[in-house]
Amino acid sequence: MAFDFQKKGIYIISRKVFLLLCLFCFLLENGKAQSNDFSHETEKLFSRLNLDIHGLEKIRDAQNNPNLAAEQLLYYFKTRTSVKHPINISSEKTEATQKDIKWANDALKHIFVGQPAYPSYFCGDDIDWNSRPVPDNEWVWQLNRMYFWNAMGKVYQQTGDEKYAKEWCKQLIDWTQKNPNDADHKYAWRSIEAGIRGNSWTGLFQRFIGSPNFTPEVLVAFLNSMYDHAEFLMTKYSTRSNWGLMEAEGMAFIAITFPEFKFSEKWKTEAFRRLNNEINIQVYPDGHQRELAIGYHLGCINWFLRTYELAKMNGIENAFPKSYLETIEKMCEVPMKIGLPDGTNAQFGDAWAGKPGQHSKQFLEWSKMFHRDDFLYLATEGKQGTEPDKTAFALKQSGLYSMRSGWDKEATCLVLKCGPDGGFHCQPDNGTFTLYAGGRNLMPDAGSYIYSGDPKNRSWFRQTRVHQTLTLNDENTNYSPKLLKWQPGNDLDILVVENAGYKNLTHRRSVFFIDKKYLVIVDEAIGTGTGNVDIHFQLAPGAGVAVFNRDYFSVHSNFKKGWNVLVQTNKQKGLKLEEEEGQVSFEYTKKEPRPAFRFRIEKENEKHPVRFVTLVVPYEREKPDIKVEVVGNSKIGGSELQLEIEENGKIKTIGYTL
Ligand code: CA
Repeated sequence: MAFDFQKKGIYIISRKVFLLLCLFCFLLENGKAQSNDFSHETEKLFSRLNLDIHGLEKIRDAQNNPNLAAEQLLYYFKTRTSVKHPINISSEKTEATQKDIKWANDALKHIFVGQPAYPSYFCGDDIDWNSRPVPDNEWVWQLNRMYFWNAMGKVYQQTGDEKYAKEWCKQLIDWTQKNPNDADHKYAWRSIEAGIRGNSWTGLFQRFIGSPNFTPEVLVAFLNSMYDHAEFLMTKYSTRSNWGLMEAEGMAFIAITFPEFKFSEKWKTEAFRRLNNEINIQVYPDGHQRELAIGYHLGCINWFLRTYELAKMNGIENAFPKSYLETIEKMCEVPMKIGLPDGTNAQFGDAWAGKPGQHSKQFLEWSKMFHRDDFLYLATEGKQGTEPDKTAFALKQSGLYSMRSGWDKEATCLVLKCGPDGGFHCQPDNGTFTLYAGGRNLMPDAGSYIYSGDPKNRSWFRQTRVHQTLTLNDENTNYSPKLLKWQPGNDLDILVVENAGYKNLTHRRSVFFIDKKYLVIVDEAIGTGTGNVDIHFQLAPGAGVAVFNRDYFSVHSNFKKGWNVLVQTNKQKGLKLEEEEGQVSFEYTKKEPRPAFRFRIEKENEKHPVRFVTLVVPYEREKPDIKVEVVGNSKIGGSELQLEIEENGKIKTIGYTL
């Protein structure tokens, strides 16, 4: 054993010796008080470990004395350097945020954060892990993800204050004792929470293992629970869903961080198999994850990438073929292609707009990982790197399309959706779009508001008629998308999509983005269906009272400063302009009213075709003077559409042939 000798004659003991002394003191104080339970738990753990591997020989030989063996196992883990983990306390600079500090300090008092959109809640001196302060199940599910433990870990690492470690160790043991994986504890054992914990707990282990409060009891409870987590996740595989990735990630992190378990190799192999499988199943060739909600798409990038990176750190990345990373790179292009100019998201499905510039950090990482100058450009708001080489993108399998005037924050940008059914997080909204111009989202998607609780809340936001698309008799549509034309150009981008959303009615939407300034949208209702055919539009909240001009069938927003938008549909017999209920939600559980309206034509009989011709014009000061007419041999639902546009007295003809 090495002792460092200082000139002053004081012996400074090495870390290993110090730890051994701590263990010795611990033995003296607590040795006799160890309960039978602890012996039992320790024996259970030893039966789950491969004690023949290098470094565990002493523990194997001391098994008949569980207390001593547990001490030695703790020493092994406190000094282990063979496993690499992204949380590395000797090299990582932790920056706990104000939120981390609050959550960590609250957690010392058992005031816990569940679903973070709701206030934190006191879960009792004797913690009730099934606390339900709100009727939304998400609260208790997310309580059992323990976001506050991650915060405690960061704050502990930053401050070195043992009160965080001491309390975490207590809570860890409390949770494992109170939450066996059985029918009474389902709230704690949804497979995604188990997967999330599988990942996050391996990080907590890194942060807390050095603490003197991390005792043999904590280690035994922790490792037994990790084993239970991995074995449980082996039985849960939600294919075709982001859930499947969280399940696999949890298993991979437990397996790689703790190769000492007997089944680690089996867990790791299965986790890698699932990730390699799911990247092919879940990601369309255009790069978008199949559930078609951008937040989950971004989550999936991380879920695919984190395990790859952990594998790479530990020299086993060969388990992933080259195509795995190529697909991830394609996924990383998605927020560039369909993100709004300020970096917020078009919030289709269960997506949230988020904050401007929110993807910058990720783009910076991806720019290094994939050597991409365009990602660097987005990460640095154009200060470095190269502008993306296009301004219009089609994700053809996902049915997501974007057209923009440029890459600055003031750019005009349309993102339109007409895609397949993506499941739970997707909404029947085909044809809908978001329009952004002059630094403002002028026509945002309503979002999703809430996942559980009163089902009426969620279903309101899912309705087709609260989206900027066409409905028949206000009913929800089905997903039956078809791309008819995609023709980007220098001064004209053309997109024609169809959705056979009703049994007897197909919506064809033709979009013309003219001079990268404004839109003409032609909506056609093709088929024998009858009743009210509506096209719906919604404006941003805070736009003042929207101005309706019923003589001209136009509505415009009324922001006093900055950009506005004009929506005007060409007059025709029987056309009605009517206000509708408008809501928008930019954050979970929060919603606000906004202007909404529809143009309605009654389709009286099977042969009566319906067509709306609409100008959607963003503008900064004066409302522009633009007129549009359908000309030529342009039959509704036909193979040709010609438009004559008059802008400030100048006339031009545009159109397409299918
Ligand atoms: Ca929506």
